[in-house]
Amino acid sequence: MRSLYWIVVLSFLALVLPIAVKAESVPLVAMVEANMALPLQPYIQHIFIGSGLILALMSFAWARALRSYSMVILALFFAIKSLGILVTGGVSLLMIFTENHQLLKIEGLLLACLSHLILFAFTIKFYTLKKFEATSYQLLLRLSFIMVLAVPLAYFFTQTPVWLLTQTLVSISLIALLYIVRKVQEQRLSMIFSLTLLVSLSFNFINYLLHYWQFSTQVINGLDMLAFWLMAIMVTYLMGRKYYYHLRDEKLAQQQVLASARASDLAQQKLLALQEESQEQLESRVQERTLELNIALQELEAVNQELKEKNTLDELSGLYNRRYYDQKIMAEFRRSRRNLTPLSIILIDIDHFKLVNDSYGHLTGDKCIVEVAKRIKSLLRRSTDVGCRYGGEEFCLILPETDAEGALALAQDICQSTYKQQIFDDDIIIDLTVSCGVATYQQEQGVTPDIIFASADKALYKAKQAGRNQVQVSLLSEI
Ligand code: GH3
Ligand code: MG
Ligand code: MG
Repeated sequence: MRSLYWIVVLSFLALVLPIAVKAESVPLVAMVEANMALPLQPYIQHIFIGSGLILALMSFAWARALRSYSMVILALFFAIKSLGILVTGGVSLLMIFTENHQLLKIEGLLLACLSHLILFAFTIKFYTLKKFEATSYQLLLRLSFIMVLAVPLAYFFTQTPVWLLTQTLVSISLIALLYIVRKVQEQRLSMIFSLTLLVSLSFNFINYLLHYWQFSTQVINGLDMLAFWLMAIMVTYLMGRKYYYHLRDEKLAQQQVLASARASDLAQQKLLALQEESQEQLESRVQERTLELNIALQELEAVNQELKEKNTLDELSGLYNRRYYDQKIMAEFRRSRRNLTPLSIILIDIDHFKLVNDSYGHLTGDKCIVEVAKRIKSLLRRSTDVGCRYGGEEFCLILPETDAEGALALAQDICQSTYKQQIFDDDIIIDLTVSCGVATYQQEQGVTPDIIFASADKALYKAKQAGRNQVQVSLLSEI
């Protein structure tokens, strides 16, 4: 695309500069046919060439600024059009290349047709007629065809019919363009473009009239130049507007992009805030639930503990039950074996308890069991001593780190305490005694908790046999 710009500019300079140089150095009168009008004043020609050049270069600059291909075409139009006016003003361009006078006649028509073909191309491009206005596009194509065909005709006619043919073709093309531009009215800048065409057309008709009234060619050419300059001013304005719209559209698009970016930024911030809020809510809810759960767990643990304790306690006596005894004796036996410490067991049985039940009833019997349990409990001074109700009116004490002597002493205390203190139930006084069997484990080989218990049971049996209300000790080896 960039190379195309340069081709246009260089070809324009190649065409215009030699003529400008020639126009200055050679007397123009020499180049003009005898029947042609007087040449233009050289200084007006210079101004015209200069302004044409500036206009073409300016169009080219606009084309670059707008990045518009249609503006490149317009630059070409200005170049050709200004050359065309020079030719009608009496400067022969083909003179540079040929001496054939017959051929020289066609250059006015050739340049006029060429400039209008370029104007067609500009209109097609500017309004994208090929895509949106197929019929208008076809019309311009046909007109172009007619113009191309008309050029060789000039070869066979004299100056005046050729001039008339040129004027007519130019008028027809201007009317066609005007019709098309009005048709695509909804487009921006149509108004100014149609005004430009209308001005050109008006000058064309004035030219007809001047020719009819036989005004000098110099006047007609002067009008042509005026028309060209007016057209140039309008087209410059047109391009200016187009550039303004281009900038405005760009700015609007930028603002839209900025606004949408801001909106998306805002939406993102809102989303983030929402996320944070929901995160906080979630966290506080989780904390609440965790707290509730912890409380529930603690409660459950407390209940479990309570249940565990209830499970291990004997309801009637308040001592540990048989299940607890089974667990505890095993644990203490292992500890004793590991620490090489003695472990004693005392088995206690209330004497003739069946008689108590039979004499005073089971309720009183129960009270007696509770009372004996209380006395046993009060005598267990070490925190490690464990008192259990083994079953019925039998109790079993586990005494860790207690040797046979210590166990014997405790058993005797229990016997004494029961024997000496009577039990009162309303007006009933009950004298109770207990018999105790003691067994001590002192790291003997092959001993199990059952053996220790059996040994204590054996001792108890001995105590019963020996008359009750006493303590007997049994050796593990006896089992
Ligand atoms: P001894 O031990 O001196 O040989 O005679 P005993 O009469 O105590 O004989 P035994 O041990 O055979 O009898 C135990 C009695 O204890 C049998 C039962 O009626 C009674 N008994 C067992 N458990 C309970 C209880 O929980 N409450 C009451 N009131 N009596 C119970
Ligand atoms: Mg018994
Ligand atoms: Mg008994």
